[in-house]
Parts: sequence; C-alpha cells; structure tokens
Amino acid sequence: MHNLTLIKGDGIGPEISDSVLKIIKASGVEINWDIQTAGADVINQEGVPLPKRVTESVKKNKIALKSPVTTPIGKGFRSVNVQLRKELDLYANLRPCYNLPGVKTRYENVDIVVVRENTEDLYAGIERQVDENTAESIKRITREASLRIAEFAFNYAIKNNRKLVHAVTKANICKLSDGLFLNCAREIAQKYPQIEFKEILVDNCCMQLVQNPNQFDVLLLPNLYGDIVSDLCAGLIGGLGVAQGANIGNEYAVFEPVHGSAPDIAGQNKANPTAMLMSAIEMLNHIGEKNAAERIKNALFKTLESGIKTADLGGTATCSDFTEAIISCL
Ligand code: ATP
Repeated sequence: MHNLTLIKGDGIGPEISDSVLKIIKASGVEINWDIQTAGADVINQEGVPLPKRVTESVKKNKIALKSPVTTPIGKGFRSVNVQLRKELDLYANLRPCYNLPGVKTRYENVDIVVVRENTEDLYAGIERQVDENTAESIKRITREASLRIAEFAFNYAIKNNRKLVHAVTKANICKLSDGLFLNCAREIAQKYPQIEFKEILVDNCCMQLVQNPNQFDVLLLPNLYGDIVSDLCAGLIGGLGVAQGANIGNEYAVFEPVHGSAPDIAGQNKANPTAMLMSAIEMLNHIGEKNAAERIKNALFKTLESGIKTADLGGTATCSDFTEAIISCL
C-alpha cells in the first residue's frame, strides 16, 4: 500500500483527477490517497489558495499527483504551482514529449525531453511598480540553481540512454543571467563526455523545433523559456491534452500535466485526461509499480489507436467514455 497525496485543483482538475483515480484503481495498485483541495474554491473557505495542509501532506507522503490549479492573470494570489515548487524545492521540471499511437501529428518519431529549471528566473516573482507607467521584473539566475539543473539534465540523459543535450538560452542578449546559465551548462557538460552537448538560442530553437523536431533529444532551459518551449513541444505531439510533466526535487516529487485548468471546458465532461494519466504513469514508475504503469500505458495506447478520443484530438468521446474505454482495455 502506497501513501500518496492527490491535489485535486480546479477547472477541469476534478474531472481528470476522478478519471485517473478510477483507472489506477482498476489496475489493482493499492494506493491510500490523501486528497487535498487547492485553488480558487479554497480561497473562499480558507483565505489562501494553497493552505499549509497541502504542502504538509506532500512532505509527509513525499510524492503527489496534481491536477491543474488556476493562476489568475494580473493581481491576486501568487501562483499555487510556483509556490508549491518553491516550498518543496522541486527544482527540476521534466516534460517528456513523444508521439502517442493514434494521435495524428505533423511529425512522426518526436521524442524530446524538456528539462526546465523550476525555481528562479522571471518566475521568482521579484517585481516592482517603478511609477504609474513603469513596471519591472527581475530575471534572477544563480550559479547554484543553474549547476544543479544542468547536472539533473545530464544525469537524466545518462540514466535514460539519451545522447544529446542542448542548452537553450538567449545568452547573446541577456549576457549576464543567461550567460551564467550557459556557462554552468558548459561546466557540467565537461563531466559527461559521453553525452554530446550543443548550444542554441531560444528563438532559433523554436524555429528548428517546428521545422525539424527530430534533431532534438534533451533540452535544458531556464524557467521561462522552458515554460514556453514545453508548450511548443506539446503542440508537436498532439497538444496540451496529452503532455505530461513532473516536478522533481531531492526529497519530493509532484507529477502533473503541462496544461492549465482549461476553464473554457470545465465541468462539461470534455477534458482529455491523457496528460494527467501519462503523468500518473510516470509516478507509478517512480514508486516502483512498473508493471501497473506498463499495463495502464498499453490500455491507454490501445484506446487511442482504436479511435476513441476526446474532442481536443478530433474525437467524440467524453472524458468518462474515454476513461471507461481504458478501463475495459485493462
Ligand atoms: P496556465 O497558464 O494555467 O498553464 P494556459 O493558459 O496554458 O493555462 P490551459 O488551461 O492549459 O491554458 O488551456 C489552453 C487551451 O488548451 C484551452 O483551450 C483548453 O481548453 C485546452 N486544454 C488544456 N488542457 C486540456 C485537456 N486536458 N483536454 C482538452 N483541452 C485542454
């Protein structure tokens, strides 16, 4: 029996969480879920979107599965996602992007892993209103955080039989901040001569990704570019509905889809639970339930191949139809 935390989120969060929980239960893995709510609805009752009980639960269980939580644009509370990553020191954001069977995309054989630094850069939230008409955001990059994310990327490459790491920056313009990130990547690259190391500017990288994604293997990026480029990579493999993710630190790990809470389709039984399910599959691998992870993945792939798909992938299945189809494949 595993003790794990589930953060239910808002928007489509509850629907896709229920779907994934049902599928995991059907696989026979025994999990004692500590279900925690966070996000917009919690603010009314508890005053904050990320109450202490949520981080305490993750600290106790070490591993969490998380569905999206809305980040209001402009004023309001600090992003729950950013806060959680900071408080648990989940410094590495890992987003593997590969083609799924039955999901038609422009390119075949895309297999890219985005490794995004998760704790600093423009996401550190250091902003100030200079005067009525001027605002500033500080792009903070440190040697310590850059070295450890580079180490994570190369270590991941070795463990997962990857051959090439690209450091993606804008070091020609942000000479000090991105320059530091790049220098740290160069330093770590020297320790891993068996992995090829290349450098690319983020704008060129975006163009190359949409023209020839097969040239890329592992991408190593500071926080903001990592956020943007991983959505681009999600687009290469069928969109946000299928893009998985994980936030990993030395002590804790939180597995969550790349997408947001999709308020435009919330509560309509239209959401695609694939991204959340793929994240859960990685979580099962992480806790050693490799057999169940494999069986769920096969059931998901069979379902997609058979043409049962949600609307975002051009299908007509509802979230619950899709869930039931996966369960019957299991
Ligand atoms: P955030 O800033 O919180 O990451 P976002 O601006 O990236 O959010 P999303 O909430 O991810 O926005 O949604 C972007 C678009 O993708 C929306 O049209 C949404 O409906 C769609 N979308 C996202 N996730 C899913 C999903 N699981 N199934 C179907 N459509 C989705």
